[in-house]
Amino acid sequence: MKALEEKIIREGIVKKGNILKVDSFLNHQIDVAFLDEMGKEFQTLFQNQPITKILTIEASGIGVAVMTARHFQNIPVVFAKKSKSSNISDELYHTTIDSFTHQNTNDVVISKQYLNENDHVLIIDDFLANGCAVLGLIDLIHQAGATVEGIGIVIEKGYQVGGQKIRELGYHLESLAIIDHMDDVKGEITFR
Ligand code: 5GP
Repeated sequence: MKALEEKIIREGIVKKGNILKVDSFLNHQIDVAFLDEMGKEFQTLFQNQPITKILTIEASGIGVAVMTARHFQNIPVVFAKKSKSSNISDELYHTTIDSFTHQNTNDVVISKQYLNENDHVLIIDDFLANGCAVLGLIDLIHQAGATVEGIGIVIEKGYQVGGQKIRELGYHLESLAIIDHMDDVKGEITFR
């Protein structure tokens, strides 16, 4: 998505440790009109799948997931929650996800009430790096007996392993921007 690449060049900040900050429109302040455009793009990309639900993970995926749902007919958004392991019960699907940005491991849960074997799920998230977040969400969907219909990512860091892993598993993965290289000294970003 050309407009997204241009916005990343204008507003993105490359931080040490291979982190791209896009706080001005996605990760802190939300540019609602722009997220709406991205939501429309995801709807176009996945329009042929019989999607009943969008799944994301708190917090930064929620905004774009909600805007995507607006462009499908009346489908809900479920967001997986980060939880304390002491709070995990039989009413929850549970997995663990290593966090790329915080370098820790989170217990992540979804209430069994909100995902079941009749669901056809589109996963939406802000970034794809090593794939831990997406693979954790896929695990939760499988626990529910539901079907993964596709995965929509705003920014894929294409030089990390996540994209390749998920495509090799045979999932329909679409990223609105794929970064091939980031230079944290010069602040340069190269797209695929
Ligand atoms: P993965 O699980 O694929 O390794 O990393 C994806 C998750 O880590 C996303 O949910 C996102 O929140 C976070 N993340 C990974 N790389 C970046 C980055 O460069 N910038 C930001 N803002 N978040 C990132």
